[in-house]
Amino acid sequence: MNVSLEKLAENYHNVLKRIHHAAEQAGRDPMDVKLVAVTKYVDDSVVRSLYQLGCRNFGENRPQVLWEKADKLSDCDISWHMIGHLQTNKVKRSLPMIYLLHAGDSLKLLNAVNREANAKGVVADVLCEVNISGDGSKHGFSPDSMADSLTEISQMQNVRVKGLMAMASLTGGTERAGEDFEKLRRLRDQLQQVVPDNVSLSELSMGMSGDFEQAIDHGATLVRVGSVLYQ
Ligand SMILES: *Cc1c(COP(=O)(O)O)cnc(C)c1O
Repeated sequence: MNVSLEKLAENYHNVLKRIHHAAEQAGRDPMDVKLVAVTKYVDDSVVRSLYQLGCRNFGENRPQVLWEKADKLSDCDISWHMIGHLQTNKVKRSLPMIYLLHAGDSLKLLNAVNREANAKGVVADVLCEVNISGDGSKHGFSPDSMADSLTEISQMQNVRVKGLMAMASLTGGTERAGEDFEKLRRLRDQLQQVVPDNVSLSELSMGMSGDFEQAIDHGATLVRVGSVLYQ
């Protein structure tokens, strides 16, 4: 996507304004909602422009692209969010660049993250991706298995769970999306009662360009917004 600097600035400030407004409408503190600017549509020069506008949290969904961008922008103080599926064989190279792994979608992956974090002497912050809509992405924990899985993940010394992530159904429009967001929030509230004390589920990563305001209304703390920034 090609976007002028003027337009990018206008879009960025507009999204921030909309986030602020949606939080206030929901009776929430706007500071509790963070914009993760999704950069999969643009090259590193556009990411740098957003950085210069003040954006610090960026999301990529492909590991190789994350490596390239993180490398080209290594002089910037960026928090990179991995929002797409991470194959276990890419954990080693990706982990040092990732501030928060949103797509913690299986025990196999999280075990690999735990091993690698242990080897590096770090603790990896992750969200567990929940397959809330039942359609679209085949990645993620089923809502029914999440409690047992969290108990297992809580025993991984070098993985720290911060919350849940989900993609809304691709069909059914914003109404269906709202239902999915509410499902994720309810699941989080239920799980919080039963999970071990060292598991915090304070973060909810949900909402994209078409529905981030709704997601905020349902409790999102991280909204992953891409396309509206570059239109
Ligand atoms: C692309 C992507 C987004 C952003 O979607 P937009 O509709 O462009 O805002 C959010 N989350 C994930 C996981 C993505 O892959």
